[in-house]
Amino acid sequence: MSRHQFERYLDQVFDFFPRIAALPDGRCYAKHTAQKILEAVFFGSACQFGPLHRIETECRQGALRRRIGRVSEDAIGYTLERQDPNAIFALGCDVARQLKRNQVFASTWSRGLVVAAVDGIEICSSFVRCCSRCLERTVKYKVGEEQREQIQYYHRISVVSIVSSSFPIPLGIRFQHKGEDEVACSLALLEDLIRQLGRRFLDVLVTDALYLRASFVQKIEALGLDWVITLKANQPELLAEAERVAAALAPYPPCAQQDESLQLWYLPLLDWVAADRDVQVVKTLRQQSRRRQQVESAEAGEKHIVKIVAVETSTNFYASNLELGSIPPFFLHQLGRSRWDIDTWLFQTLVTEGALKQPSLHQGYENASMVLTMIRVLAFTLAQVFYHRQVRSHFRKAGFGFCDLARRMAERFLLISVPDSS
Ligand SMILES: [Zn+2]
Repeated sequence: MSRHQFERYLDQVFDFFPRIAALPDGRCYAKHTAQKILEAVFFGSACQFGPLHRIETECRQGALRRRIGRVSEDAIGYTLERQDPNAIFALGCDVARQLKRNQVFASTWSRGLVVAAVDGIEICSSFVRCCSRCLERTVKYKVGEEQREQIQYYHRISVVSIVSSSFPIPLGIRFQHKGEDEVACSLALLEDLIRQLGRRFLDVLVTDALYLRASFVQKIEALGLDWVITLKANQPELLAEAERVAAALAPYPPCAQQDESLQLWYLPLLDWVAADRDVQVVKTLRQQSRRRQQVESAEAGEKHIVKIVAVETSTNFYASNLELGSIPPFFLHQLGRSRWDIDTWLFQTLVTEGALKQPSLHQGYENASMVLTMIRVLAFTLAQVFYHRQVRSHFRKAGFGFCDLARRMAERFLLISVPDSS
């Protein structure tokens, strides 16, 4: 085997390695090429090796010894600290453009619209380690009766991901600056993405209630985006109005895709006083039966377990600027809940398999930690796409999962026919 299948795929589809080679190199001193080091981090992250010392070990004597060869953790830190994050961001945008051209964003449900979600996630929290760009908060805790306080350091990143595709695909990330809130950080990220990718790249943005603010929706509309945002108690007047109007209405007649457990109320042109405008609101009520086990005491003092079926009810409100025309309002519910995958699947997988929360580089490596996080997300994204497009699509029966892909990918790096330099 001359090259790894993943590498061949990246080159054929994304012209990936010439792009890595063309990234600017800001170093004064270099034992290794920047390309070698960036590839070590990229493949190490795609194989889910996690921390940089593990990548160093795998390059020296493990899975990457033939493909990369010896490279130290210090050399990686030195190189990443001098790498331009804007260049990695632009590389991510090139990849996104190609994914869109290749129909990877194609959706079975979003009516031809490309839907993106934005959300924040906290990484690298610590009471001990910090850097000049760390965000801070005071944490109160008790020792016996005594109340104490301690400063906790952390970073928060905003992530924009495509959610209309068959699996969530991150498009870009941005670190929240000091003095900036998550909404401002996410807005800056969206502006950067649309500047690079063009105004018609994304159609609809979905996000959580934190973002339902007049100033935010005005700015994303100026970027050419429609939006669907969860409505909660942080917009009390609009929520009260939606509850009042829905209470007087019958549920909207269900459409073909809607199952019996869901009821939906459609409230077009609802007055959002705080923003001095009208919005569309959908209220949904879902009733689901769940089996539970309950311990009951019998007369003789014995306990036994009884299985019961409990009906759980969940209510959600989504606000939107989308004018539906002949589209059923169920579509707003589909859009609103499409971002649930971000929290339940994407962030969890990025944390557990993508090592997103492990700092590896921090104090004195402010720029490197940003670049490392960006490369980790890019490696995760491309390994995902490779898995779904090249590996999983070829299964006749249920095959192996995304975790196993990393292990198999690592094993196959040992089979390539590169002269062994160690
Ligand atoms: Zn920090």
